[in-house]
Amino acid sequence: MHELGVVFHMVDLLEDVGREQGLTRVSEVVVDLGEVSGVVTELFEDAWEWASNRHDLLRGARLRVNCIEAVTVCNSCGKTYPTVAHGRICPHCASPDTELLRGNELNIREIEAC
Ligand SMILES: [Zn+2]
Repeated sequence: MHELGVVFHMVDLLEDVGREQGLTRVSEVVVDLGEVSGVVTELFEDAWEWASNRHDLLRGARLRVNCIEAVTVCNSCGKTYPTVAHGRICPHCASPDTELLRGNELNIREIEAC
């Protein structure tokens, strides 16, 4: 399960931050999750539940997932469009020369300590 690996990585990161800042308990973690990051929100939340309860620092911490809509820009006409609806082909000019602007991220945005 891909999501579990992602969560383990996140837990490591949070423990580093917790150590650096001398936190004993985290109450909430806010994560920016891109629409096309490949992470399924529900599985991610389940994995978080499982993993966070195995670490004193994170036990009972709430996970808030902030979904980031995926946007692609077309290099031919310069317009942007929603990635999920149209994929790699520009709906304005039908060019395949497009680039993902955002929607691929998975970042920890905020950590709230008790
Ligand atoms: Zn275009």
